[in-house]
Amino acid sequence: MAYTVTLKRGEERRILRGHSWVYANEAEKITGEGTNGSLADVVTHDGRFVGRGYINHLSKILVRIFIRDKDVWDTEELFMERLTRANAFRRDMGFDNSYRVCFSDSDFLPSLVVDKYGDVLSVEILSLGFRLKRDVIVNCLKKIFSPAAIYERSDSPVLKKEGIPPFTGLIYGEMPEKVVIEENGLKIAVDIPGGQKTGYYLDQKFNRYAIRRHAAGKRVLDCFSNTGGFSLNAATVADKVKAVDISGHALATLRENAALNGLNNISTVEADVFEYLREAKKRGEKYDMIILDPPAFCKSAAEVPGAVRGYRDINAAALKLLSPGGTLVTASCSHYMTPVLFEKTLGEAANGAGVDLKIVEKRMQSPDHPALVGFPETEYLKFYICKI
Ligand code: SAH
Repeated sequence: MAYTVTLKRGEERRILRGHSWVYANEAEKITGEGTNGSLADVVTHDGRFVGRGYINHLSKILVRIFIRDKDVWDTEELFMERLTRANAFRRDMGFDNSYRVCFSDSDFLPSLVVDKYGDVLSVEILSLGFRLKRDVIVNCLKKIFSPAAIYERSDSPVLKKEGIPPFTGLIYGEMPEKVVIEENGLKIAVDIPGGQKTGYYLDQKFNRYAIRRHAAGKRVLDCFSNTGGFSLNAATVADKVKAVDISGHALATLRENAALNGLNNISTVEADVFEYLREAKKRGEKYDMIILDPPAFCKSAAEVPGAVRGYRDINAAALKLLSPGGTLVTASCSHYMTPVLFEKTLGEAANGAGVDLKIVEKRMQSPDHPALVGFPETEYLKFYICKI
Protein backbone atom coordinates (compact mmCIF):
# COMPACT_ATOMS: atom_id res chain seq x y z
CA MET A 1 0.00 0.00 0.00
CA ALA A 2 1.30 3.42 -0.94
CA TYR A 3 1.39 6.55 1.15
CA THR A 4 -1.42 9.08 1.19
CA VAL A 5 -0.63 12.68 2.04
CA THR A 6 -3.66 14.69 3.14
CA LEU A 7 -3.25 18.43 2.60
CA LYS A 8 -4.37 21.07 5.04
CA ARG A 9 -7.51 22.87 3.96
CA GLY A 10 -6.94 25.03 0.86
CA GLU A 11 -3.33 23.97 0.28
CA GLU A 12 -4.28 22.30 -3.03
CA ARG A 13 -4.95 25.63 -4.79
CA ARG A 14 -1.38 26.36 -5.95
CA ILE A 15 -1.01 22.72 -7.01
CA LEU A 16 -4.20 22.75 -9.06
CA ARG A 17 -2.87 25.82 -10.92
CA GLY A 18 0.16 23.83 -12.10
CA HIS A 19 2.71 23.92 -9.31
CA SER A 20 3.86 20.47 -8.29
CA TRP A 21 5.67 20.77 -4.98
CA VAL A 22 3.96 19.82 -1.75
CA TYR A 23 5.83 21.32 1.19
CA ALA A 24 6.03 19.33 4.41
CA ASN A 25 4.25 22.07 6.36
CA GLU A 26 1.25 21.87 4.01
CA ALA A 27 0.49 18.27 4.94
CA GLU A 28 -2.04 17.60 7.62
CA LYS A 29 -1.26 13.90 7.87
CA ILE A 30 0.56 11.06 6.17
CA THR A 31 -1.10 7.66 6.20
CA GLY A 32 -0.33 4.28 4.65
CA GLU A 33 3.17 2.95 4.34
CA GLY A 34 6.07 2.51 2.01
CA THR A 35 9.76 3.24 1.84
CA ASN A 36 11.19 6.72 1.56
CA GLY A 37 11.25 7.74 -2.09
CA SER A 38 8.20 5.65 -3.01
CA LEU A 39 4.94 6.92 -4.50
CA ALA A 40 2.45 8.95 -2.48
CA ASP A 41 -1.06 10.04 -3.38
CA VAL A 42 -1.79 13.65 -2.49
CA VAL A 43 -5.40 14.39 -1.56
CA THR A 44 -7.31 17.43 -0.39
CA HIS A 45 -8.52 17.97 3.16
CA ASP A 46 -11.72 16.14 2.26
CA GLY A 47 -10.06 13.29 0.37
CA ARG A 48 -10.19 14.35 -3.31
CA PHE A 49 -7.25 13.15 -5.45
CA VAL A 50 -4.87 15.97 -6.43
CA GLY A 51 -1.87 14.13 -7.78
CA ARG A 52 0.81 11.53 -7.23
CA GLY A 53 4.57 11.74 -6.84
CA TYR A 54 7.55 10.48 -4.88
CA ILE A 55 7.70 11.26 -1.19
CA ASN A 56 10.84 12.29 0.68
CA HIS A 57 10.50 12.57 4.44
CA LEU A 58 13.94 14.20 4.67
CA SER A 59 13.14 17.12 2.36
CA LYS A 60 11.13 20.29 2.93
CA ILE A 61 9.52 19.39 -0.38
CA LEU A 62 7.62 16.38 0.86
CA VAL A 63 6.17 15.28 -2.50
CA ARG A 64 6.94 16.34 -6.07
CA ILE A 65 3.80 15.59 -8.04
CA PHE A 66 4.22 14.41 -11.61
CA ILE A 67 1.10 12.34 -12.13
CA ARG A 68 -2.29 14.06 -12.24
CA ASP A 69 -4.44 11.12 -13.30
CA LYS A 70 -5.60 8.64 -10.67
CA ASP A 71 -5.17 5.68 -13.02
CA VAL A 72 -1.62 6.45 -14.07
CA TRP A 73 1.40 4.91 -12.32
CA ASP A 74 5.15 5.38 -12.56
CA THR A 75 5.74 2.69 -15.18
CA GLU A 76 8.58 2.61 -17.70
CA GLU A 77 5.94 3.45 -20.35
CA LEU A 78 5.15 6.68 -18.52
CA PHE A 79 8.82 7.71 -18.35
CA MET A 80 9.20 6.76 -22.01
CA GLU A 81 6.19 8.85 -22.98
CA ARG A 82 7.34 11.90 -20.99
CA LEU A 83 10.90 11.81 -22.31
CA THR A 84 9.81 11.15 -25.89
CA ARG A 85 7.45 14.09 -25.71
CA ALA A 86 10.08 16.34 -24.13
CA ASN A 87 12.50 15.48 -26.91
CA ALA A 88 9.92 15.97 -29.67
CA PHE A 89 9.12 19.41 -28.21
CA ARG A 90 12.75 20.48 -28.79
CA ARG A 91 13.18 18.80 -32.17
CA ASP A 92 10.05 20.55 -33.33
CA MET A 93 11.68 23.91 -32.54
CA GLY A 94 14.73 22.96 -34.61
CA PHE A 95 17.08 21.78 -31.86
CA ASP A 96 19.36 19.15 -33.23
CA ASN A 97 22.96 18.67 -32.11
CA SER A 98 22.92 19.88 -28.52
CA TYR A 99 20.07 20.96 -26.31
CA ARG A 100 18.34 20.42 -23.00
CA VAL A 101 16.17 17.36 -23.59
CA CYS A 102 14.40 17.48 -20.25
CA PHE A 103 14.00 20.45 -17.92
CA SER A 104 12.66 19.02 -14.71
CA ASP A 105 9.25 20.35 -13.64
CA SER A 106 8.71 22.04 -17.01
CA ASP A 107 8.63 18.57 -18.58
CA PHE A 108 6.66 16.97 -15.76
CA LEU A 109 9.72 15.02 -14.62
CA PRO A 110 10.61 16.94 -11.47
CA SER A 111 14.30 17.15 -10.53
CA LEU A 112 15.44 15.40 -13.72
CA VAL A 113 17.64 17.28 -16.16
CA VAL A 114 18.95 15.69 -19.35
CA ASP A 115 21.31 17.60 -21.61
CA LYS A 116 22.33 16.29 -25.01
CA TYR A 117 25.86 17.10 -26.13
CA GLY A 118 26.17 15.56 -29.58
CA ASP A 119 25.84 11.82 -28.99
CA VAL A 120 26.57 11.98 -25.27
CA LEU A 121 23.88 12.61 -22.65
CA SER A 122 24.58 14.33 -19.36
CA VAL A 123 22.02 13.62 -16.67
CA GLU A 124 21.33 15.32 -13.37
CA ILE A 125 18.95 13.66 -10.88
CA LEU A 126 18.23 15.80 -7.85
CA SER A 127 15.65 13.91 -5.80
CA LEU A 128 15.47 10.62 -3.98
CA GLY A 129 12.47 9.21 -5.87
CA PHE A 130 14.01 9.82 -9.26
CA ARG A 131 17.39 8.52 -8.16
CA LEU A 132 15.70 5.23 -7.34
CA LYS A 133 14.36 5.23 -10.93
CA ARG A 134 17.78 5.74 -12.52
CA ASP A 135 17.74 2.38 -14.34
CA VAL A 136 14.34 3.10 -15.87
CA ILE A 137 15.50 6.56 -16.97
CA VAL A 138 18.67 5.14 -18.52
CA ASN A 139 16.66 2.46 -20.36
CA CYS A 140 14.37 5.09 -21.87
CA LEU A 141 17.27 7.33 -22.90
CA LYS A 142 19.01 4.39 -24.56
CA LYS A 143 15.87 3.61 -26.56
CA ILE A 144 15.22 7.19 -27.63
CA PHE A 145 18.76 8.37 -28.42
CA SER A 146 21.04 5.32 -28.84
CA PRO A 147 23.71 7.50 -27.24
CA ALA A 148 27.43 6.73 -27.17
CA ALA A 149 27.43 7.40 -23.43
CA ILE A 150 25.29 8.61 -20.56
CA TYR A 151 27.12 10.43 -17.79
CA GLU A 152 25.53 11.40 -14.49
CA ARG A 153 26.40 14.72 -12.85
CA SER A 154 24.29 14.70 -9.70
CA ASP A 155 26.60 16.82 -7.59
CA SER A 156 24.57 19.95 -6.90
CA PRO A 157 24.64 21.28 -3.34
CA VAL A 158 20.80 21.11 -3.30
CA LEU A 159 21.10 17.33 -2.86
CA LYS A 160 21.88 18.01 0.79
CA LYS A 161 18.33 19.27 1.18
CA GLU A 162 17.11 15.93 -0.20
CA GLY A 163 19.29 14.03 2.24
CA ILE A 164 21.03 12.01 -0.47
CA PRO A 165 24.74 11.87 -1.28
CA PRO A 166 26.07 13.25 -4.57
CA PHE A 167 26.81 10.86 -7.40
CA THR A 168 28.83 11.38 -10.56
CA GLY A 169 30.04 8.87 -13.08
CA LEU A 170 29.48 7.03 -16.32
CA ILE A 171 26.17 5.18 -16.18
CA TYR A 172 26.07 3.81 -19.72
CA GLY A 173 28.34 3.28 -22.73
CA GLU A 174 31.81 4.65 -23.26
CA MET A 175 32.85 8.28 -23.07
CA PRO A 176 34.53 9.55 -26.21
CA GLU A 177 37.90 11.17 -25.58
CA LYS A 178 36.50 14.59 -26.49
CA VAL A 179 32.99 15.96 -26.69
CA VAL A 180 32.75 18.87 -29.11
CA ILE A 181 29.33 20.33 -29.81
CA GLU A 182 28.11 22.86 -32.34
CA GLU A 183 26.42 26.07 -31.18
CA ASN A 184 25.64 29.12 -33.29
CA GLY A 185 28.07 27.79 -35.90
CA LEU A 186 30.90 27.52 -33.35
CA LYS A 187 32.68 24.42 -32.08
CA ILE A 188 32.53 24.15 -28.30
CA ALA A 189 34.44 21.57 -26.28
CA VAL A 190 32.33 20.35 -23.37
CA ASP A 191 33.98 18.73 -20.38
CA ILE A 192 31.09 16.70 -19.00
CA PRO A 193 32.91 15.06 -16.03
CA GLY A 194 35.01 18.10 -15.11
CA GLY A 195 33.04 21.18 -16.22
CA GLN A 196 30.38 23.04 -14.25
CA LYS A 197 26.82 21.71 -13.79
CA THR A 198 26.12 19.23 -16.62
CA GLY A 199 29.13 20.48 -18.62
CA TYR A 200 27.98 23.62 -20.41
CA TYR A 201 25.39 26.37 -19.95
CA LEU A 202 23.02 25.68 -22.84
CA ASP A 203 20.44 28.20 -21.61
CA GLN A 204 22.28 31.24 -23.05
CA LYS A 205 22.55 29.91 -26.62
CA PHE A 206 20.45 32.54 -28.38
CA ASN A 207 21.48 35.34 -26.02
CA ARG A 208 25.07 34.63 -27.01
CA TYR A 209 24.10 35.04 -30.65
CA ALA A 210 22.13 38.20 -29.87
CA ILE A 211 25.19 40.07 -28.61
CA ARG A 212 26.93 39.77 -31.98
CA ARG A 213 24.70 42.53 -33.34
CA HIS A 214 26.22 44.92 -30.79
CA ALA A 215 29.81 43.69 -30.76
CA ALA A 216 31.16 44.42 -34.24
CA GLY A 217 34.57 46.09 -34.09
CA LYS A 218 34.30 46.55 -30.30
CA ARG A 219 36.57 46.02 -27.30
CA VAL A 220 34.67 43.46 -25.22
CA LEU A 221 35.06 42.36 -21.59
CA ASP A 222 33.31 39.05 -20.84
CA CYS A 223 32.94 38.67 -17.07
CA PHE A 224 32.11 35.24 -15.61
CA SER A 225 33.07 33.81 -18.99
CA ASN A 226 33.20 30.14 -18.01
CA THR A 227 34.30 28.25 -21.16
CA GLY A 228 33.66 31.22 -23.41
CA GLY A 229 30.08 31.01 -24.63
CA PHE A 230 29.82 34.79 -24.94
CA SER A 231 33.50 35.44 -25.69
CA LEU A 232 33.49 33.21 -28.76
CA ASN A 233 30.32 34.70 -30.22
CA ALA A 234 31.64 38.21 -29.61
CA ALA A 235 35.03 37.35 -31.05
CA THR A 236 33.54 36.42 -34.43
CA VAL A 237 32.88 40.14 -35.01
CA ALA A 238 34.67 42.11 -32.23
CA ASP A 239 38.07 43.77 -32.33
CA LYS A 240 39.24 42.00 -29.17
CA VAL A 241 37.73 40.14 -26.27
CA LYS A 242 39.01 39.68 -22.72
CA ALA A 243 37.44 36.85 -20.69
CA VAL A 244 37.53 36.87 -16.89
CA ASP A 245 36.63 33.91 -14.69
CA ILE A 246 37.73 32.60 -11.32
CA SER A 247 38.03 29.05 -12.68
CA GLY A 248 41.34 28.27 -14.35
CA HIS A 249 39.86 25.00 -15.59
CA ALA A 250 37.04 26.83 -17.40
CA LEU A 251 39.52 29.25 -18.94
CA ALA A 252 41.69 26.38 -20.20
CA THR A 253 38.63 25.03 -22.04
CA LEU A 254 37.92 28.55 -23.30
CA ARG A 255 41.40 28.79 -24.85
CA GLU A 256 40.89 25.35 -26.40
CA ASN A 257 37.58 26.61 -27.84
CA ALA A 258 39.21 29.74 -29.26
CA ALA A 259 41.78 27.54 -31.01
CA LEU A 260 39.11 25.13 -32.30
CA ASN A 261 37.45 28.07 -34.03
CA GLY A 262 40.62 29.82 -35.21
CA LEU A 263 39.81 32.91 -33.12
CA ASN A 264 42.98 34.66 -31.98
CA ASN A 265 41.48 37.87 -30.59
CA ILE A 266 40.55 36.48 -27.15
CA SER A 267 42.68 36.77 -24.02
CA THR A 268 41.89 35.24 -20.61
CA VAL A 269 42.34 36.48 -17.05
CA GLU A 270 41.92 34.20 -14.04
CA ALA A 271 40.50 36.51 -11.38
CA ASP A 272 37.61 37.37 -9.10
CA VAL A 273 35.40 39.65 -11.20
CA PHE A 274 34.59 41.96 -8.26
CA GLU A 275 38.32 42.59 -7.73
CA TYR A 276 39.10 42.71 -11.42
CA LEU A 277 36.54 45.47 -12.05
CA ARG A 278 37.95 47.55 -9.15
CA GLU A 279 41.52 47.18 -10.37
CA ALA A 280 40.58 47.84 -13.99
CA LYS A 281 39.01 51.15 -12.92
CA LYS A 282 42.26 52.16 -11.18
CA ARG A 283 44.24 51.25 -14.30
CA GLY A 284 41.88 53.34 -16.42
CA GLU A 285 40.77 50.46 -18.67
CA LYS A 286 37.88 51.17 -21.06
CA TYR A 287 35.59 48.80 -22.96
CA ASP A 288 32.82 49.24 -25.51
CA MET A 289 30.89 46.18 -24.32
CA ILE A 290 30.88 44.48 -20.93
CA ILE A 291 29.09 41.20 -20.33
CA LEU A 292 28.06 40.17 -16.80
CA ASP A 293 26.77 36.61 -16.49
CA PRO A 294 27.37 35.77 -12.83
CA PRO A 295 26.30 32.64 -10.96
CA ALA A 296 23.04 32.91 -8.99
CA PHE A 297 23.54 35.35 -6.12
CA CYS A 298 20.40 34.15 -4.33
CA LYS A 299 19.00 30.64 -4.13
CA SER A 300 16.16 31.51 -1.74
CA ALA A 301 13.97 34.48 -0.91
CA ALA A 302 16.01 35.08 2.26
CA GLU A 303 19.14 35.78 0.24
CA VAL A 304 17.55 38.47 -1.96
CA PRO A 305 18.77 41.59 -0.09
CA GLY A 306 22.41 40.49 -0.28
CA ALA A 307 21.96 39.57 -3.92
CA VAL A 308 20.53 42.99 -4.76
CA ARG A 309 23.69 44.60 -3.37
CA GLY A 310 25.86 42.19 -5.36
CA TYR A 311 24.05 42.89 -8.66
CA ARG A 312 24.01 46.64 -8.00
CA ASP A 313 27.72 46.73 -7.26
CA ILE A 314 28.98 44.74 -10.23
CA ASN A 315 26.65 46.49 -12.65
CA ALA A 316 27.73 49.91 -11.35
CA ALA A 317 31.39 48.87 -11.52
CA ALA A 318 30.96 47.66 -15.11
CA LEU A 319 29.15 50.83 -16.19
CA LYS A 320 32.10 52.90 -14.93
CA LEU A 321 34.42 51.06 -17.31
CA LEU A 322 32.27 51.55 -20.41
CA SER A 323 33.11 54.09 -23.07
CA PRO A 324 30.39 56.62 -24.05
CA GLY A 325 27.67 54.81 -26.00
CA GLY A 326 28.95 51.52 -24.60
CA THR A 327 26.88 48.35 -24.20
CA LEU A 328 26.16 46.59 -20.93
CA VAL A 329 25.04 42.99 -21.31
CA THR A 330 23.74 41.83 -17.96
CA ALA A 331 22.07 38.66 -16.73
CA SER A 332 20.68 37.14 -13.59
CA CYS A 333 19.89 33.44 -13.30
CA SER A 334 18.26 33.67 -9.86
CA HIS A 335 14.54 33.05 -9.98
CA TYR A 336 14.14 35.02 -6.73
CA MET A 337 15.60 38.12 -8.37
CA THR A 338 12.42 39.07 -10.23
CA PRO A 339 12.54 41.09 -13.48
CA VAL A 340 11.01 44.07 -11.66
CA LEU A 341 13.58 43.94 -8.91
CA PHE A 342 16.44 43.39 -11.35
CA GLU A 343 15.46 46.42 -13.41
CA LYS A 344 15.15 48.52 -10.27
CA THR A 345 18.63 47.37 -9.27
CA LEU A 346 19.98 48.25 -12.72
CA GLY A 347 18.47 51.71 -12.24
CA GLU A 348 20.34 52.09 -8.95
CA ALA A 349 23.56 50.93 -10.60
CA ALA A 350 23.13 53.47 -13.40
CA ASN A 351 22.51 56.20 -10.82
CA GLY A 352 25.56 55.16 -8.87
CA ALA A 353 27.68 55.28 -12.01
CA GLY A 354 26.14 58.60 -13.08
CA VAL A 355 24.92 57.40 -16.49
CA ASP A 356 21.63 57.13 -18.35
CA LEU A 357 20.90 53.58 -19.37
CA LYS A 358 18.64 52.45 -22.21
CA ILE A 359 17.39 48.86 -22.43
CA VAL A 360 17.48 47.72 -26.05
CA GLU A 361 16.80 43.99 -25.65
CA LYS A 362 15.15 41.89 -22.94
CA ARG A 363 15.47 38.15 -23.23
CA MET A 364 15.13 34.93 -21.22
CA GLN A 365 16.47 31.35 -21.16
CA SER A 366 16.53 29.36 -24.44
CA PRO A 367 13.29 27.66 -25.56
CA ASP A 368 14.70 24.24 -24.65
CA HIS A 369 14.37 25.44 -21.02
CA PRO A 370 10.65 26.30 -21.15
CA ALA A 371 9.03 28.17 -18.27
CA LEU A 372 5.86 26.47 -17.11
CA VAL A 373 3.03 28.89 -16.46
CA GLY A 374 1.76 28.33 -12.93
CA PHE A 375 5.24 27.26 -11.83
CA PRO A 376 7.22 30.48 -11.33
CA GLU A 377 10.49 28.76 -10.31
CA THR A 378 10.89 27.46 -13.88
CA GLU A 379 11.34 31.01 -15.17
CA TYR A 380 14.75 32.07 -13.95
CA LEU A 381 16.99 33.74 -16.51
CA LYS A 382 16.80 37.49 -17.12
CA PHE A 383 18.99 38.89 -19.85
CA TYR A 384 19.28 42.55 -20.79
CA ILE A 385 21.25 44.39 -23.43
CA CYS A 386 21.54 48.05 -22.42
CA LYS A 387 23.34 51.08 -23.80
CA ILE A 388 24.71 54.15 -22.11
N1 SAH B 1 28.90 33.12 -19.23
C1 SAH B 1 29.10 31.69 -19.09
C2 SAH B 1 28.40 31.09 -17.90
C3 SAH B 1 28.73 31.75 -16.58
S1 SAH B 1 28.43 30.72 -15.21
C4 SAH B 1 28.69 31.00 -20.38
O1 SAH B 1 28.17 31.64 -21.30
O2 SAH B 1 28.85 29.78 -20.46
C5 SAH B 1 29.20 31.63 -13.95
C6 SAH B 1 30.73 31.63 -13.99
O3 SAH B 1 31.18 32.52 -12.97
C7 SAH B 1 31.41 30.32 -13.71
O4 SAH B 1 32.26 30.02 -14.77
C8 SAH B 1 32.23 30.53 -12.42
O5 SAH B 1 33.49 29.90 -12.47
C9 SAH B 1 32.40 32.01 -12.43
N2 SAH B 1 32.55 32.70 -11.15
C10 SAH B 1 31.86 32.53 -10.01
N3 SAH B 1 32.21 33.44 -9.08
C11 SAH B 1 33.15 34.23 -9.67
C12 SAH B 1 33.88 35.37 -9.24
N4 SAH B 1 33.72 35.89 -8.04
N5 SAH B 1 34.73 35.95 -10.11
C13 SAH B 1 34.91 35.41 -11.34
N6 SAH B 1 34.23 34.34 -11.81
C14 SAH B 1 33.36 33.76 -10.98
